Formats: sequence, structure tokens, C-alpha cells
Amino acid sequence: MSMITVKTPREIELMRVAGRITAAARSVGREMVSPGVTTHEIDREIHKFIKKSGAVPSFLGYGGFPGSACISVNEEVIHGIPGPRTVNEGDIVSIDVGAYIGGYHGDCCGTFGAGEISEEDIKLIEVTRQSFFEGIKYAKVGCRISDISHAIQEYVESFGYSLVREYVGHGIGRNLHEAPEVPNYGDPGHGPRLVKGMTIAIEPMVIMGKRDVLVLDNDWTVVTVDGSKAAHYENTVLITDGEPEILTMAEDL
Ligand code: MG
Repeated sequence: MSMITVKTPREIELMRVAGRITAAARSVGREMVSPGVTTHEIDREIHKFIKKSGAVPSFLGYGGFPGSACISVNEEVIHGIPGPRTVNEGDIVSIDVGAYIGGYHGDCCGTFGAGEISEEDIKLIEVTRQSFFEGIKYAKVGCRISDISHAIQEYVESFGYSLVREYVGHGIGRNLHEAPEVPNYGDPGHGPRLVKGMTIAIEPMVIMGKRDVLVLDNDWTVVTVDGSKAAHYENTVLITDGEPEILTMAEDL
């Protein structure tokens, strides 16, 4: 990966713009999640929204990815390809989106239920989301990257869930993926020290069962080996002098 970049105030302003559009695109996706919709239909609305906002979908064509969003259902963890799969009542759907505008990217994700979902799926989604907030307690000047990683791991594993290790969060800015890597596991006190102006995407990927994953024959979609469900939550975060600023925050997410 590239070097860690520290953003100037001007760059941060541009990243806020990208972040707001990205967060709103996630909300568009969330609104679409309901029994009977296909993942292609969700992707189409997200694509339209991002373009209408004057931005470009970061994921479309990235490494050859064919969608504007990664839409991963149930046992799919990440990189679900939008297509004819129909979302059913009780499914959980992870919507990962990125938007590029003014030379900068935003990146965020959330998992949403279709219709009525089970108590255990509600809990999986909530623990995944909360683990992000446990992690960003350490997204502060002077902390190290693995302080975030460790906080996420401690929290998630205390519920008996597991975390994906093969895929990690990342720096973000002019490039969708920049240094440093931000793992969701590990001992504290390792990795780069956080400095003001760094922007990182923190994204716990949580599995209800065992942490083993595999990639489907489509070369993209990552699924759980044991078939258990997975949830994913992500925001783009700015390191400041004080509390971290979430650049992809929507009020209700
Ligand atoms: Mg990401």
C-alpha cells in the first residue's frame, strides 16, 4: 500500500463532501431493503443517487467490480455482486458504498434487515455497529492503529461472535484504499501512531459463527464457511485534535 497521507484542511473539506454523499447513498440502500427486492434493484438506486449528486461510484469498475455497491446477503460477508438474488423476509443485507467527488473518496457500510428479522440477527447487527464505536474511542492522536483493532475484537468476541481477519479497514483519501491497514483484531500498542489529519475507514466484519471465510467462484463474494450470518459496519473517520469526526455519519445510522 501507499504511504500514510495526512490531509490538509482543504482536503478535509473535500472529504466531508464525499463523506456526506456516501452516507446518503447508504441510506438510499437501506430504504430499498425489503422482501422481494433484488440486489440489482438496490444497486441501481444507489448508482442513480450517487450520479445525481455529481459523484462517481467508487466501487464501479474497481478491480473490475461490476456494481456501484457491494450488497451481501446473510452468509455473504463482503463484496456481494448486485444481481438477480431476491431479498427475502428475515434476510440481513449489508450495503457497502463508496462515492468519489472532488478528487476524494468516502466509504461506508451498514447491515439492514428485510421485514421482520430474528432477535439473534438484530443482536448481531447491533453488536457489529457498536464495535465500530468501541473502536473509535481509540481513534485519537497518540493512540496506535491496533488500539482500535483490539477494542473491536474485545467487544465482538465477548458476545461469542468472530471477526474476519483476511479483510481489513484502511486509510482513504485520493485513493479508495490507502495505508495504513486497520485490522479488526490484534494486541494493542502496535502499528502506526495516529496523527491529526489522517483519514481511515474502520469496518468490523462480524460472523455469528466461526471466522473462516471463502471466496465464491465469481472471484468476489466472500462467504462464511459454516454458513452462519455476517454483518458489516463501516464509516470513514477523520483524526482530529479531539474527538474523531465521522465523515460518513447519517443521524440514524
Ligand atoms: Mg472500506
